Amino acid sequence: MNFSDSEIVASILTDRGYTATEEIQQADIIFLNTCSIRDNAEQRVKKRLQYFQAMKKKKPGLMIGLLGCMADRLKTVLLEEEQLLDVVAGPDAYRDLPRLLEEVESGQRGVNILLSMEETYADITPVRLETNGVSAFISIMRGCENYCSYCVVPSTRGKERSRDASSIIRESMDLFDQGFREITLLGQNVNSYSWKDGDEEITFARLLEKIAGINPLLRIRFATSHPKDISNDLLETIASHPNICRAIHLPVQSGSSRVLDRMNRKYTREKYMERVAAIRRIIPGCAISTDVITGFCDEREEDHQETLSLMEWVKFDYAFMFKYSERPMTLAADTLQDNVPESVKERRLTEIIDLQQRLSYESNQRDLHTVHEVLIEGDSKRSGDHFMGRNSQNKVVIFPKNNEKPGSYTNVKIQSFTSATLMGDATKTHLFV
Ligand code: SF4
Repeated sequence: MNFSDSEIVASILTDRGYTATEEIQQADIIFLNTCSIRDNAEQRVKKRLQYFQAMKKKKPGLMIGLLGCMADRLKTVLLEEEQLLDVVAGPDAYRDLPRLLEEVESGQRGVNILLSMEETYADITPVRLETNGVSAFISIMRGCENYCSYCVVPSTRGKERSRDASSIIRESMDLFDQGFREITLLGQNVNSYSWKDGDEEITFARLLEKIAGINPLLRIRFATSHPKDISNDLLETIASHPNICRAIHLPVQSGSSRVLDRMNRKYTREKYMERVAAIRRIIPGCAISTDVITGFCDEREEDHQETLSLMEWVKFDYAFMFKYSERPMTLAADTLQDNVPESVKERRLTEIIDLQQRLSYESNQRDLHTVHEVLIEGDSKRSGDHFMGRNSQNKVVIFPKNNEKPGSYTNVKIQSFTSATLMGDATKTHLFV
């Protein structure tokens, strides 16, 4: 989401005559786009801002801005007390940036942290930053009202709003015409996307269908799905469109219903397993990845064992794994005690990571000697003689170059693997389906 926001900011400022640079030393304005979901993020932000301040001493007139989730909470300390900032803009205030920059030029500080009930930036065509020319992100909704007790997003990003479907479809078509071949639709909970177009209600499944119909050569991914809302209708839509990727990110967070209840996730272990069974039944071969938080308030040893057993049951292909750290402005910070000792959190996290390492390895092992359709993204990082791409399941595939080009599809037979990567040989380049 944050990267997508940076592209929106780049677009707003490009319209006002600014240009983006990849060389930080050349910049006249530096924006730090922030997210307060993960631990240590604030300390890292502060360190970066201190570094920018040192740059400013050598380059007076350099403007430094803080964007995104942390804007509201850190503005007092970073802007007023420590004076590390010139501009602070919350996630719904990016259109106001040109005015805020003018305020700085006239010797003041520019601050706007107001959240909006409507802002979706639907009419803004993002400037693609750091693009490989093959894959792009499209933000389809903003905000969240699920109020998971550990999460700061509802207070930093405001109410859930879906973006006009026609603007999403237009952006997808434009990207395809520019040569992009994969788009990832982004939202905190894409399953609850909903847009009224006259009498027609466009759900997330209908939106996917419309984008899939643009061209069979355009692959579609999406993130993130909430387990409570992932419907059979959505799964059947994916199953019936080969260009909607066979990969679902379904954050479980914990395998214990008791902990899930404290997290206010609104599903149980059994309900999660039922949804995984539905994915396996309706979309055979679909990869499932997840997020896990260990050591949440009052998590007992038996809860931890339930998380391990659930991971083993699902056989996740990939997982993002974290130990719980309390975030200010969350329900958990206000109402629960962060009472699992650090050493216990660390031990549980190690067990979870070790297990996932084995599950990822076994997942890739099952792909050995099978053929995968790969969308080529560009050169492999390790060797200019190899291409890197992804299969529908979102696994990285490396193979020696023949005459293929980035943005084309090729079939690759897997000859070896690690827990993170598949390696193989291209069998033939072809045009999908
Ligand atoms: S669904 Fe829960 S974890 Fe995800 S953004 Fe919303 S409140 Fe946060």
